[in-house]
Amino acid sequence: MKKTPLGHVTCPVCDFADAQVKEDKNGHAYIHCSDCNAQTFTRNDFRNGKLRGRMRAVTVTVTDDTVTVTAPAPATAPPPAADKVPPVKKPGGWLQPLLAQG
Ligand SMILES: [Zn+2]
Repeated sequence: MKKTPLGHVTCPVCDFADAQVKEDKNGHAYIHCSDCNAQTFTRNDFRNGKLRGRMRAVTVTVTDDTVTVTAPAPATAPPPAADKVPPVKKPGGWLQPLLAQG
């Protein structure tokens, strides 16, 4: 069965630039160099993470690692209409005659 490479690194043995990074049956990445045929296994999560971190990923095999950037919504609420002065109430009641005199 043919495995799809996860990415490529430089071969630690022969310095071949495009040695393939594949995944073993335990899900750990390993290097398979198609030039010198060396295989470098990581065998644990620590080295697996290190290898995956330094490989050049094959982007076409990425399935569901889509990054969704959500920008904060801009403040679209209109500012309160401060220039709108409520209509001045006419002075009324008992005060009306006094004001009219002035
Ligand atoms: Zn090699």
